[in-house]
Amino acid sequence: MNNLTGIAGYEVISQRCKSDLDELEAVLEREPERCPYCAAPGPRSKGRYLRKVRHRSGYVRSTFLLVHTRRFWCWRCKRSFLPTLPGIRPYRQSSELFRKEVHQRHEDGICASTLAKRERIGQATVERIYHQHTELEVRKRSNRDCPRMLGIDEHTLGKKNRFCTTFCDLGNNRVFEVRPGRSEKELSGFLASLPGREKVEVVCIDLSQSYRKLVRRWFPNARIVADRFHAVRALAHHFTGLCREIAPEITRNSGLLAILRTRPGRLSQKQIRRRQELFDKHPTLEPLYLKRWQIHSLLCQKSCTAKKCRSNAKELYRHIEELQQQGFAQLKTLAKTLQQWIEPIATMWRFTKNNAITEGFHRKMKLIQRRAFGFRNFENYRLRVLAQCQ
Ligand SMILES: [Zn+2]
Repeated sequence: MNNLTGIAGYEVISQRCKSDLDELEAVLEREPERCPYCAAPGPRSKGRYLRKVRHRSGYVRSTFLLVHTRRFWCWRCKRSFLPTLPGIRPYRQSSELFRKEVHQRHEDGICASTLAKRERIGQATVERIYHQHTELEVRKRSNRDCPRMLGIDEHTLGKKNRFCTTFCDLGNNRVFEVRPGRSEKELSGFLASLPGREKVEVVCIDLSQSYRKLVRRWFPNARIVADRFHAVRALAHHFTGLCREIAPEITRNSGLLAILRTRPGRLSQKQIRRRQELFDKHPTLEPLYLKRWQIHSLLCQKSCTAKKCRSNAKELYRHIEELQQQGFAQLKTLAKTLQQWIEPIATMWRFTKNNAITEGFHRKMKLIQRRAFGFRNFENYRLRVLAQCQ
């Protein structure tokens, strides 16, 4: 009988099945022996007290828990009190087990209105329970000290595409904080109040100047690491743009575009033949193509020694000079970007950490936004992200 409630500390005295609900009647295993205010022994009973709360639910039936207890009175401090009931918090109309269940089901994807109908509670109650639990989870792990390795990236929220900035703890693979806005003006309030900023050693960012400035100003001891994905993407973007200029037919031919985008080692024999046909038609393309994959493999190196990093940087400088001499606008822009970011790229070779996990969390954040059908209140969004992205 004891396990029927699922909470330790109760003794079930009867179980009643009504047409559509079950009632469990229970008493406390141990009544209070001391006054909670002055710890005087032997409080007197003031009379019976019945506490009725919503408890666990079956598939179609709901369960109520009825706890028979007494109100007590202390002879020394003359105060009256109710015993603390395990698993039921003061003023709540449902047990903690029930609330946990509702939170879990809502998080599993049952929408608030369906869940409310099924559990015979209000939709607002579902929302409230969910919010309280999420807040609790966030508070549990809110050691607000800054992580040693930080990934910073932007994502958008809602239809109007408001920008938000994600601060990701790369050491523990979880989201450290999300904030509205991406400019220094919008973020400075948060950054100024962040404890342990000077302890941050590594910050991983995409190739954006505004974030770079922000990191230099607010994380004085951090080394900036360029994000590999963004560096490679910039290379691919400019190179593909140039290919489109030289050979306009590839825009309509997704197969050829895919061939140019695939690593040379991964092409099939048929693809290599098609690539050769394209090069025969546009001879300028081949040296550019080779150059692009040379730079690509250079950018993809990781965990290098300091010496290797230096030689890599020299090689990259050579590539940059060659790009500038080619005389194409696209390549000049690319050369300029690489030149500006050469130091963070050199740091990138030294480390393995990158913003891949941040991008993964962005995917999850999009799902959170979609499931909630958008957020009006940024704080609600933030709570959900912090509770679920860990
Ligand atoms: Zn007392």
